[in-house]
Amino acid sequence: MKVLSVASEIVPLVKTGGLADVAGALPAALAEHGVEMRTLVPGYPSVMEAIGKGTKVHAYPALFGGKAAIMRAKAGALSLYVLDAPHLYDRPGGPYGQPTGSNWPDNWKRFAALGKAAADIAAGRDAKFVPDIVHAHDWQAGLAPAYLRHGAATAPSVITVHNLAFQGQFQADIFPELGLPPEAMAVDGIEYYGGVGFLKAGLQYADAITTVSPTYAREIRTPEFGMGLDGLLRARADRLHGILNGIDITAWDPQTDLELAGNYSARSLKPRAANRKAVEERFGLDHDNDPIICLITRLTWQKGVDILAAEFDAIIGAGAKLAILGAGDHALEGALLAAAARHRGRAGIVVGYDEALAHLMQGGADAILIPSRFEPCGLTQLYGLRYGCVPIVARTGGLADTVIDANDAAVSAGSATGLHFAPGRGDSMLDALHRAVALHREPEQWQAMQKRGMKADVSWNRSAGRYAALYRAVLAGGSGA
Ligand code: ADP
Repeated sequence: MKVLSVASEIVPLVKTGGLADVAGALPAALAEHGVEMRTLVPGYPSVMEAIGKGTKVHAYPALFGGKAAIMRAKAGALSLYVLDAPHLYDRPGGPYGQPTGSNWPDNWKRFAALGKAAADIAAGRDAKFVPDIVHAHDWQAGLAPAYLRHGAATAPSVITVHNLAFQGQFQADIFPELGLPPEAMAVDGIEYYGGVGFLKAGLQYADAITTVSPTYAREIRTPEFGMGLDGLLRARADRLHGILNGIDITAWDPQTDLELAGNYSARSLKPRAANRKAVEERFGLDHDNDPIICLITRLTWQKGVDILAAEFDAIIGAGAKLAILGAGDHALEGALLAAAARHRGRAGIVVGYDEALAHLMQGGADAILIPSRFEPCGLTQLYGLRYGCVPIVARTGGLADTVIDANDAAVSAGSATGLHFAPGRGDSMLDALHRAVALHREPEQWQAMQKRGMKADVSWNRSAGRYAALYRAVLAGGSGA
C-alpha cells in the first residue's frame, strides 16, 4: 500500500514541535506494516539544502503567484516529495513566521499550495508512486482532502490533528483564489464562521480523522476542548480515532545517546549520575540530593507555563530544584528569568531551542514536569519514561494515557510510572510535586518507578499497526472503526 503523508515540518529537516517528530518517524515505522510512505513537504531553505538535486516530477508555470515544481528526493532515510516554490518558501525565519515571530501574511497561499500539490501527486503526476491514500497532518495540509474531493484523483484521505488550537483560519476573500468550485464555500465544505478554515476543511472532507491520543479524541468532542470544532467532531465521531504517538527509540536511547555524559539502561542507572551532575552545572544548580525537576517546552499558556511561574517560589520551597529549557512567549520568558534569578542555585533557565540539551536533561534530571492545560499527546513525557526522568503530568490528553499515577494503589501494585495532577490547577500541581519530593527520598521506590517507565513500550510498534489497519479500512470503504 502506498501512502502520501503531507506535513509542514519533518525531523531532521525542520521542526517546531511534535508534528515534526511524528512525520519523521512514521515512514520507517509503517514500512514494517507493509506501507510504503513518502512525505510531501514545503521546499524551505533547510529542505532544499538537504535534498541536493532531486528529480522534477511536475512543473507548475504558476502556482499561487510563481513558478513551482514537485521534486522527488531523498534526505537520509526519508523519501520525500518537495514542493519547490521559491516565492512561497525561500525565506528566512521559521516555517510559519517571519524572523520577528509574526506569521507570514500569505500563509494561506503557502499551505494551499501544499494541499494542491498533494492532490496532484495523488492524481498521478509521478507514475513511480501513485498513492492509494493521502494522509494530511494539521491545518497546513488541511486543504489536501478538499482538493482531492474536488479534483481528478480518487484516493481517499486521512487527516491527523496534532493540535486543535492551530486551525488555519482566513478571510473569505481568499476563496476565489483557491481554485476550488463555488460549492466548496459552504458549511459542509471549507466555510468556517464566515471565513475559510483549513483544518475545518480537512476534518470535513477527510474519510477518516485521527488525533494523537484516545483521551484527546474524546476531549475534542466537548465544547471545553473543541475550540469551535466540537460540533463537527461530534457529527463525525464515527470517523474519529485516537492513535497514540510513539517516539523514535533509536534517536532517543539512553544506552547510545551521544549527548549524554553517561550512557545507562534500566539494568544499571548508575552512569546517570554523570548526566545529573552535568545538568546541575549547566543550570547553575547546587550539587545535592534534592530532586531536579526539568521542563522542556514551548513557553505558552497551553503548556501551563504561567501556572509554573505563579507557583515558582512554592516549588522551590517544596525542596525541588528546577531546570527549564524553553522559548516562546516573551512575557513568560521574562517571568521565569526573574523567578530563576530569585533562586540562584535552586533554579536555572536556558531560553532557546536546544535539541542536545533536551537529551541531556532527560538523561540527568530526576523528573520532568508537564503542566499543560491540554495536551493532544505530548512527547516529552515519553522521552522522560524512556530515560528514567519521571513524568509529573497534568491529567489531560495523551499525558493521561501514557503515565500511570503513583497513587497508593499503583505504588503498592508496583505499576506507577509517574505522577498526575489536575490540569490548570497550581494547588494540585504543587501537591504532586510534594508527593514527588517525598517519593524521591525513598530511593528504592523512586528507582523502581524509573525502571518501570524505562521498560514501558513507547515505540511506534503498536500505533504504526493501528495506522496501517486504519488505512486498510478506509481503502475498503469503511470508517476505520
Ligand atoms: P508540542 O508539539 O505541543 O510543542 P510535544 O511534547 O508534542 O509538544 O513536542 C515537543 C517537542 O519539541 C519534543 O520533541 C521536545 O523535546 C521538543 N522541544 C520543545 N521545546 C524545546 C526546546 N526549547 N529545546 C529543545 N527541544 C524542545
